[in-house]
Amino acid sequence: MKQDKKEDDELETTFVLLKPDAIERALVGDIIARFERKGLKLVRAEMRVVSKELAARHYAHLVGKPFYPKIEAFITRGPVLATAWRGRDAIDVVRRLVGATDAALAEPGTIRGDWACLYTENLVHASDSPDAARRELANFFPNDPEFGER
Ligand code: ADP
Repeated sequence: MKQDKKEDDELETTFVLLKPDAIERALVGDIIARFERKGLKLVRAEMRVVSKELAARHYAHLVGKPFYPKIEAFITRGPVLATAWRGRDAIDVVRRLVGATDAALAEPGTIRGDWACLYTENLVHASDSPDAARRELANFFPNDPEFGER
């Protein structure tokens, strides 16, 4: 149980990336609906293709791992939808809606649990901390007056 319960008007903003498999499999509407119905507000959305440079910045903690080339090939292979969501405790709320990284183990009822069963192709990325959210929003929305400043 969390001790630092957030007030209803204490809003957080988090970053969610709908990965190429979400676009290819036409799951964008379903995924966005999950966040909206939970009560989160979509505040930014931009479709783009991730360059190798952006992939390396976003996955800096994984560059150099044996499986990094596979992640890079996947995340750069087609358009993604970069989004920002706002709401009470948004970072943790979104992580719970998304489910475990290994989609085969993700609980039914979560996005990965219902619609994915691979490890690399797991439909979405979501920030796991306030620092990660700030960094990732700046990486994907560098020209945005709210998120672009580091
Ligand atoms: P999350 O996306 O849940 O925050 P990570 O940041 O650890 O998880 O990993 C980023 C992404 O890299 C994962 O969502 C997954 O697509 C991929 N990935 C991580 N570890 C592996 C691995 N061992 N083999 C293949 N893909 C991996």
